[in-house]
Amino acid sequence: MKEEIEKRKTICNHCGIYDSENNLCNGRLYVNPKNNDVSDKPKNGFIKGCGCLLNRKIPDMSKHCPANKW
Ligand code: SF4
Repeated sequence: MKEEIEKRKTICNHCGIYDSENNLCNGRLYVNPKNNDVSDKPKNGFIKGCGCLLNRKIPDMSKHCPANKW
């Protein structure tokens, strides 16, 4: 489980919509999981950030990345 948490953190750290300042999955942005492109508007193939506080969400194994990255 510790490994899974570290893996999730690394994925979020490299995600285009990760808000590192607030440790949030930015709920005002959209990410294309295929190429990590970011949009501020809904777009085909783009997934909206969940707005979650990631230090709470990442360790919870019942939760998943909205863009299906973990
Ligand atoms: S939860 Fe998913 S979409 Fe949100 S910042 Fe992490 S990797 Fe990106």
